[in-house]
Amino acid sequence: MSYPANSPSAVDPAKLDKLAEVAVRIGLQLQRGQDLVMTAPVAALPLARLITQHAYMAGAGLVTAFYSDEEATLARYRHAPDESFDRASDWLYEGMAKAYANGAARLAIAGDNPMLLSGEDPGRVARANKANSTAYKPALEKIANFDINWNIVSYPNPSWAKQMFPDDPEEVAVARLADAIFAASRVDVADPVAAWEAHNANLAKRSAWLNGQRFAALRFTGPGTDLTVGLADGHEWHGGASTAKNGITCNPNIPTEEVFTTPHARRVEGHVSSTKPLSHQGTLIDDIRVRFEAGRIVEAKASKGEAVLNKVLDTDEGARRLGEVALVPHSSPISASGLLFYNTLFDENAACHIALGQCYSKCFLDGATLTQDQIAAQGGNASLIHIDWMIGSDRVDIDGVKPDGERVPVMRGGEWA
Ligand code: ZN
Ligand code: ZN
Repeated sequence: MSYPANSPSAVDPAKLDKLAEVAVRIGLQLQRGQDLVMTAPVAALPLARLITQHAYMAGAGLVTAFYSDEEATLARYRHAPDESFDRASDWLYEGMAKAYANGAARLAIAGDNPMLLSGEDPGRVARANKANSTAYKPALEKIANFDINWNIVSYPNPSWAKQMFPDDPEEVAVARLADAIFAASRVDVADPVAAWEAHNANLAKRSAWLNGQRFAALRFTGPGTDLTVGLADGHEWHGGASTAKNGITCNPNIPTEEVFTTPHARRVEGHVSSTKPLSHQGTLIDDIRVRFEAGRIVEAKASKGEAVLNKVLDTDEGARRLGEVALVPHSSPISASGLLFYNTLFDENAACHIALGQCYSKCFLDGATLTQDQIAAQGGNASLIHIDWMIGSDRVDIDGVKPDGERVPVMRGGEWA
């Protein structure tokens, strides 16, 4: 298999430049003198170069980029000795962790083919993932604990575009994915920075309303769904821009449409059906139906990918419990596009969703000061996994349930009530 490193003619250079500007000014809020560590697929070089320019124009100290290559990844699966699959570049991640500890910001360009490894030996994929997660831990902790400002944006890699639009010629597929990324990332308007400021204000208003309600639970009802999601004690809703521990207010995800918080790991009851397929490491899991008792999934079915789903649930004890609940209106631009991106960064912003596994400590009042034991006592879940899947649609209603049982409409027919 081979493909050109990029298809510049299919990607509008003016909009790509706007995306780079939004990534630096809104996504990172990169500070004068701050260093930047960037990772990107080689196919995303045009965007990586524009981001580097905007970073230096914003006064960056030093921009250091690391590039990955799908062909090189596949070469490992074709030719590397078996022992290779338990190895990872721990020295690189230790260096990144050191850069973050010294104040650097982090930017990742996403865009790899989500199905790249779907034809490889699942045992080797799992071993390589595990070795990588273990080695990545020192760097990931700084990001997951929100010590630093960070951001992810996407580039329309040809291999990803062909996955989404298999019947189109490559140029057309790349142009369609580019348009979808630009629209979802709000850079197809005259003033993207102003559009993001307005969007952040709107998400902040939704979060503030939910925080003021102090709901004990959310109840989702719809076709195949009657689910009560208890919320963690002292939970806090977040959405859009938020402030890292280094004091910089950034937008970690571009795009983002969700407001989200931490469910109570032991207070989820009922059954729920997925409303969109879940793409997990090269497998499509469709029509998920699960039943919860006291927060734990006790039964899991899927029309496609059921074995993979059950394997995921057996990862550890926390994999059967929820770590996130998020609200996204059905009219969100990503949902309106009707596209399945096979990429959580986009697909989780198309519908209300829940996530199996690890919770976010920042979704607690005073989350930065809580210990792991306090978070667990308040209902926060812990797991090696965090997998979002969609349970919202225009046929799902959501009520907030107050501690005294009073019910307040939150969403009707998929829209804010
Ligand atoms: Zn989410
Ligand atoms: Zn999530």
